[in-house]
Amino acid sequence: MIHPTVRGLREIQELDLELRGLRGERDALPREVARREAEVTKLRKEIEGLREGHLRALVRVKELENDTRERRERIAKLEIQSNMVRHTAELLALQHQVSTLREEISRLEDEGIALLDRIEEIGAGERRTKERLAEEEGIFSTFREAARVDLAACEARLREREERRAQAAAGVDADLLALYERVLGARDGQAIAGVEAQICQGCFVEITPNDFVRLVRGKEIVFCRHCQRILFLVEEAQPGPAPA
Ligand SMILES: [Zn+2]
Repeated sequence: MIHPTVRGLREIQELDLELRGLRGERDALPREVARREAEVTKLRKEIEGLREGHLRALVRVKELENDTRERRERIAKLEIQSNMVRHTAELLALQHQVSTLREEISRLEDEGIALLDRIEEIGAGERRTKERLAEEEGIFSTFREAARVDLAACEARLREREERRAQAAAGVDADLLALYERVLGARDGQAIAGVEAQICQGCFVEITPNDFVRLVRGKEIVFCRHCQRILFLVEEAQPGPAPA
């Protein structure tokens, strides 16, 4: 037969395992929400960066247009001047200035063309990222709502199980419960182990014949000498037919 206290501890053990899972879930959900939110924020920042780049490029295009216009005006003036000069040297100097200005205009125009291509690229990138953002925002808001519902359910289950655990713990001797909790902490959340074919299912080490006899008698609490877990006989732990 199974020791009645061990029966109580097994109930506590089951609740503790469940509580562990529930607490893990409760802690993981907000972390996952925050992680996904950070991803969405990253996309928004990306779009902001693209928009700023777009504006900078437009400002530069305006500058290039002004610089080009200003050079064309200077060329027009130089051409008028060159119609009036009398010395070849002067004419050559003016022509040199004009050709320098034309070279500059050509460079400004090249930069302008490259910039227009770049603006188109940035614009396309912006549109793509905005589409992705809209999609991700939709996914995120659905997820956040589901997580909110899950979290509330998880917390309700936690409270209910904690209450049941407190009730079950009230029926167990305080020293034994403290011992159980020590083993629970040391043995990764499993303080109780079944014995099958005289093997502890917690550490898979054979128990002594004497311990086996003590277990069968069910008069005292038996610990595994190897892993310190509280033992019970698996054969006897099977649920019997429901009482009539
Ligand atoms: Zn063991």
